[in-house]
Amino acid sequence: GLSIRGLVKSFGKHRVLNGIDLDVHDGELFVILGYSGSGKTTLLRCIAGLEKVDSGKIYIDNIDVTNLPPGRRSVSMLFQNYVLYPHKTVLENIMMPIEGEPDARKRAIDMAEELGIRDLLDRYPSQLSGGQQQRVALARALVRRPRVLLLDEPLSNIDAPQRISARRFIKDLQRREKITTIYVTHDQIEAMAEADRMAIMMEGRILQVGTPEELYYDPANKYVAAFVGDPP
Ligand code: ATP
Repeated sequence: GLSIRGLVKSFGKHRVLNGIDLDVHDGELFVILGYSGSGKTTLLRCIAGLEKVDSGKIYIDNIDVTNLPPGRRSVSMLFQNYVLYPHKTVLENIMMPIEGEPDARKRAIDMAEELGIRDLLDRYPSQLSGGQQQRVALARALVRRPRVLLLDEPLSNIDAPQRISARRFIKDLQRREKITTIYVTHDQIEAMAEADRMAIMMEGRILQVGTPEELYYDPANKYVAAFVGDPP
């Protein structure tokens, strides 16, 4: 699992993460729900090692990774605007993170098989639907078999009609692979539908952690209630 203790991160004078404590269990799909600007992406980037933290600790499977470079954390992050390389085929895109490693081609093909995109390997990204592109990006994120997967607003690039099936796909994949996953969104419905447990984030703090039901029936304060209560 993943543990975070007292994480603080500022950009200049602006304190974006204000002492985050968080435990994400092994194999769990953990959703972070919060308004735009609450610090969700910054938190993921700190976990991935893409931002240096001011203070606090990050542990993955009880190993302190706070000062390890991104490549040594066993974390993969799927960005909001994930970019596939347009001049590379699907197979080449999936292989990129393991290029030059033993069995790279076979590992990429196996991953494509697991994600149901085996028949797309020779295509170019422009020949794929939004949902298919996302599967390729997921395959690329998972090809190293990371311990932790970070998803930043994973449905934002998907057309509305495809969103429900894309959401189901991510959930099924997460269940099957049992990969510890943090899923960031500002969409309450998406959060409630996806989460094993979830956290509400506001202004760089975590307001409450629990199952969707716990937060819905027993919100810690009015801000949580506003997030998870019945839509107006
Ligand atoms: P969104 O849903 O819009 O992505 P968020 O909750 O993910 O929002 P962050 O992207 O983490 O929020 O940003 C939190 C705050 O930190 C914002 O006020 C943002 O402007 C600021 N911020 C983020 N990255 C930087 C940076 N590299 N330099 C300066 N300020 C930054």
